[in-house]
Amino acid sequence: MSKRLRALIVDDSENDAALVALELRRGGYDVTFERVETLETMNSALAKQTWDLVISDYTMPHFSGLDALKSFKKTGIDLPFLMVSGSIGEETAVDVMKAGAHDYLMKDNLRRLIPSVDRELREADVRRERRRIEEENQRHWHRLRALHEIDLAITSTLDLKAILDILLEKIDHLLPSSVTTVKLIDKETGELKPVACRDLNETQWKAVRRKELTRLTQIVLENKIPLTVANVQTDPRNNEPTFAIKEGLISYLGIPLIAKNETLGVIAFYIKEFHWFSDDEIEFLTTLAGQASVAINNSLLYERSRQQAIDLERSNKIKDEFLGVISHELRTPVNVIAGYADLVKEGSLGEINSGQRTILNRIVTCTADLLEMVNGILYATSLEAKAIRAQCQPVDICDFLNELRSNYGSSLDKGLTLNWEYPSDLPVLETDGPKLRHIFQNLIGNAIKFTKQGTVTISARHNSQNKTVEFKVSDTGIGIAKELHRAIFEKFRQADSSASRAYEGVGLGLYIVKQFAELIGGTVNVESDVGSGSTFTITIPVKVKAGGSDSTTCEQENAFEVNCLLDR
Ligand code: ADP
Repeated sequence: MSKRLRALIVDDSENDAALVALELRRGGYDVTFERVETLETMNSALAKQTWDLVISDYTMPHFSGLDALKSFKKTGIDLPFLMVSGSIGEETAVDVMKAGAHDYLMKDNLRRLIPSVDRELREADVRRERRRIEEENQRHWHRLRALHEIDLAITSTLDLKAILDILLEKIDHLLPSSVTTVKLIDKETGELKPVACRDLNETQWKAVRRKELTRLTQIVLENKIPLTVANVQTDPRNNEPTFAIKEGLISYLGIPLIAKNETLGVIAFYIKEFHWFSDDEIEFLTTLAGQASVAINNSLLYERSRQQAIDLERSNKIKDEFLGVISHELRTPVNVIAGYADLVKEGSLGEINSGQRTILNRIVTCTADLLEMVNGILYATSLEAKAIRAQCQPVDICDFLNELRSNYGSSLDKGLTLNWEYPSDLPVLETDGPKLRHIFQNLIGNAIKFTKQGTVTISARHNSQNKTVEFKVSDTGIGIAKELHRAIFEKFRQADSSASRAYEGVGLGLYIVKQFAELIGGTVNVESDVGSGSTFTITIPVKVKAGGSDSTTCEQENAFEVNCLLDR
């Protein structure tokens, strides 16, 4: 079968052109050709259609073959260009080849024409294929770079508006004549909401009647795959094309935004002219939509958890206020019960028998526990509301510990021994004595509560090297599992959270200890493990005053005003 050949012949001689065509036909080509003899007609012929090769005469009356060649080269079209001449010297031939002709031939010896055309067409094919691959690589690389840039840009923020702005701006560079829109599903209402667009009047787009263009979006959402529409103005699936006609939107590509198997919405690309989205384009834009989905999803999750944190803080505040008020109101009646029970127990209202005394003792102990619990809640809520401050005064730590010691007997009912180990030269600290006492009472109380038998040791030492006073309360009790060491300092947290807890308490003691320790500029630590006892360490830094004597650092040295709910 003969090969089709579209030849542009630049020659002033009709006969010579016909001769060349004849030779080509003889060589097996099905030739169609056009003969031109001026620069203008040559250029317009090149512009008007695609050719397979150009064959030019060298000597012509209106312009030379060399002029034709130079002008052809300027067009950037890559076709075999053969120069044919009646007479051509060696020097001219060299000039012609240097100027970019693929071959030159003598008119009176056209036998070389066919092999030359065969060869040049083959080489042109090779060049074309190489160019196509290069362009493909180039486009591929360009898109990868664009995807990378977009990914970097949209993942650099969690702000949804910023993400969409960056995304649409970058798409604008990639698809210059497109209009891009993003609609997202409102999680709460399930409604599809227009959120961002580019190259459209946003207000008008958002105000557009709901049904319009959303049918296409619905199809994309239902099928969860990209949808292309050649003309949205005439396509029956777009049952209300008014907006598309008004805005000149023609071709459409809609891609679902899906992240972690959840459909978030649809990104749509409209082209304002007839455009067939190639598989390559669809694949690229789908990848882009995938990236955008991840960024959008992250931003939505962030926004949701931020909102949850705000709600949580608000409800915590309400809860604390509620607890504060309730506890405060509870204190008065509990105090009254305790007072009357004491009166009756002391016999102020008449003789009581031993059975009544036992019951009254229970009432007194229980009201004391209840009062402690209510006070604990009040302390915790006051701390939460930052209504408790440190009141610092000089405290002689030896006197302080001696007094504390005198409040506890050395041996307790249940076969427990209390050990006190501290030197007599501990420094005088500038600290909040009542808060330090509260800390000790809590730690000692816990040590006793959680130790059946053995010893509870309270010790103190002055570490002059790191300028701290270190207090320890150790016991030989049940111990605390390591994974709970952090949790026990949180509000209402206990190591044993089962319903059948063996020990009483509400889990506020250590929370208050920690808060108080920090208020007076110190820290609290625990070393313990199940079955091997516990040691709680309170470390309070000592700083040297200008006068030379050591003193502690109260977090709020001059904040002597206590605005505590307890004092209401
Ligand atoms: P509670 O009033 O419940 O004792 P705390 O905040 O004082 O609350 O203590 C929290 C939890 O830490 C306790 O419920 C207990 O599980 C654990 N705990 C505290 N001190 C000790 C200790 N000396 N030995 C063993 N467990 C302890």
